[in-house]
Amino acid sequence: MAEIQLKNVGKRWGSFVGVQNFDLTIADQEFLVLLGPSGCGKTTTMRMIAGLEDVTEGDIIIDGERVNDLEPKDRDISMVFQSYGLYPNMNVYDNIRFPLKVRKVPTAEHDERVMRAAAMVELEPFLHRKPAELSGGQRQRVALARAIVREPNVFLMDEPLSNLDAKLRVSTRAQIKNLSHELKVTTIYVTHDQIEAMTLADRVVVMKQGVVQQVGTPTDIYDAPANTFVASFIGSPAMNLVEGEMKGGVFNADGISVGGLTAPDGPITLGFRAEDASVVVSKGDANAPAYTMELLGDATMVAIRIGGALVNVKASKDYRTEIGAPVAVSIPAEICHLFRSDTGERLE
Ligand code: ATP
Repeated sequence: MAEIQLKNVGKRWGSFVGVQNFDLTIADQEFLVLLGPSGCGKTTTMRMIAGLEDVTEGDIIIDGERVNDLEPKDRDISMVFQSYGLYPNMNVYDNIRFPLKVRKVPTAEHDERVMRAAAMVELEPFLHRKPAELSGGQRQRVALARAIVREPNVFLMDEPLSNLDAKLRVSTRAQIKNLSHELKVTTIYVTHDQIEAMTLADRVVVMKQGVVQQVGTPTDIYDAPANTFVASFIGSPAMNLVEGEMKGGVFNADGISVGGLTAPDGPITLGFRAEDASVVVSKGDANAPAYTMELLGDATMVAIRIGGALVNVKASKDYRTEIGAPVAVSIPAEICHLFRSDTGERLE
């Protein structure tokens, strides 16, 4: 069991606030992803949970025990970082075994545990190599095995895939998801990559400047972003956002007019996703010349400029147009998201 409670946790250095009012219960065996741009406080939050950083406000409770003053080594937590932190003079086997030695686990258990961890990340053929004789992906798997071998209740992972190339990232990502499920550990995973967050998480926490913006399942966050920051951070491409005016249930901006909306008259931000809108033959809700066209293989992405914003629309894979040629886009009311122009908060 490892339920982690963060009760109004905050971190400040002098007058600088790194994290504020972080209030969340992470369920036993949950895979929680902290997502946000560089400097938003993800790593600091994780380091506070690990005990590598003092908490300046609030409490951290693991399995009902307040751990604010517990040393990292007493927290039953394993961490995996983007820099693998392997010992260069030890071979893979000894690197994986190291935490067992430090924790004075009886020697008789070492071999079985090391081999089990190595097998989980398919490292058996490399046990006698030194880290310098491994690829980046293999080194990352050694770091994972070293975290697994301790059989902790909590895994903390800080951008563990960021040094891997795109293909290895995808396969290692799948392996991490599978491991966390198999080992039944509570996992907190830090990334600035929204695709990693969406594919791995049971729940995602989106952060900005030390403040939690939204907590939800990937579907919650994709379907109903709490504000324009979250909307512009999730999805590939991110949600289109157009500034305009509501009047009598109709949204208007340069090149666009969408009716059937429920929102008070006045300035508003209209959002819609490229994949929800569609290109039509004539007279759309938005009409503008094509700005660019990109072939994605399974679809064609067209961009047009409306309301001063560049807006993406996903068309069929066979769709073709010339730059500058007129494009008509259907944007039905039911695919639209509405946000306050002043605060960016979702309306509803
Ligand atoms: P990244 O994705 O770049 O790692 P992050 O979201 O993990 O970013 P943090 O490392 O948690 O961000 O940093 C949050 C903020 O706290 C940043 O503005 C950072 O400059 C600041 N910060 C971190 N450590 C310290 C420190 N020891 N003293 C003062 N400010 C710090």
